[in-house]
Amino acid sequence: MADQTHEDYEIIIIGAGPAGQTAALYAGRSRVPTLVLERGIPGGQLWNTAEVEDYPGFEHIMGPELADKIQKHAEKFGATFETAEVTSISADGDDRIVTTADGREFRAPAVIITAGGEARKLGVPGEEELAGRGVSYCAVCDGAFFDGADIAVVGGGDSAVEEGAFLTRYGRKVHLIHRRDDYRAAPILVEQMRGTGKVDEIFNTVVDRIHDTDGKVSHLTLRNVGTDETSELKVNAIFPFVGFTPHSDIFDEELSAKIELDESGHIVTDQAMATAVPGIYAAGDVRSQYVRQITNAVGDATTAALAAHAYVERLKHSRTKQTA
Ligand code: NAP
Repeated sequence: MADQTHEDYEIIIIGAGPAGQTAALYAGRSRVPTLVLERGIPGGQLWNTAEVEDYPGFEHIMGPELADKIQKHAEKFGATFETAEVTSISADGDDRIVTTADGREFRAPAVIITAGGEARKLGVPGEEELAGRGVSYCAVCDGAFFDGADIAVVGGGDSAVEEGAFLTRYGRKVHLIHRRDDYRAAPILVEQMRGTGKVDEIFNTVVDRIHDTDGKVSHLTLRNVGTDETSELKVNAIFPFVGFTPHSDIFDEELSAKIELDESGHIVTDQAMATAVPGIYAAGDVRSQYVRQITNAVGDATTAALAAHAYVERLKHSRTKQTA
């Protein structure tokens, strides 16, 4: 049984990436007692993003620097930030109950889920064993370890192309391995990547195995998906950027039956970011949506915070009327 933690919070925000930080900023500014629970460092995926060039007002900024700026801005308006891992969300009447891994239980009428997600794995032999020894999911964190090296990047979306271009700063050569011959990434990103002149694009190809020498990545077995032919590629590092798994698996059985997820596990909301359960909202990369940009994460988080505030006020009003 979880310890009871009685604090007078009216909104609990789960996750402090750009969406959670922005929800905290708006909830704080609305003078709503707000708690933000984050298991890691505030900033979420910005910590894994090298350069940001599409956030208005900042023509060019490093992801971690933007994370820090948004965090300072959010804290200014009074939300409480705590380090804790949320393990479940349940409901008891009008209370939404958030339980953490350290056994605490928080109650509030409204919860905003901005828990993001994590890098999808390739699921090939060698990937798990060599993580941190040549297999990395964060170019900004680990790129500098591979100065002058041969680097493989896997994927054809915005992340692979953008981070692949960033890695050319370090790599002698970056081999971009994509399973089709058509990128999902925005054309401007592909253009920028090609402009580096250091990317070797390998299409219609997947990685079958990651090999090592003395515990460090040494080469890959590649397979052409058209011909089934295999080949070897010597690299010192591999950065898979093959998508994203949302952190939406946090509802108890009762809420799971009511809250809809889309086919890839993202939480479905209405235009006020509300789920089918009153008082539970979602924004950012955990939410089902057309695009996943920092800009729409912060925009949707704004909507979620203001909608949650309005919901809390309505609830208070109806309780006052009932007791009058
Ligand atoms: P994504 O858009 O889902 O792209 C994933 C890529 O990985 C796809 O090209 C996919 O191939 C490939 N892939 C998936 N599973 C694979 C596997 N097992 N083996 C080999 N390849 C595999 O993911 P993302 O690039 O991480 O981006 C996620 C979201 O963030 C997107 O909405 C994106 O627009 C956004 N984002 C935006 C920016 C920016 O605007 N600057 C930067 C980063 C991310 P297929 O194409 O064949 O499916």
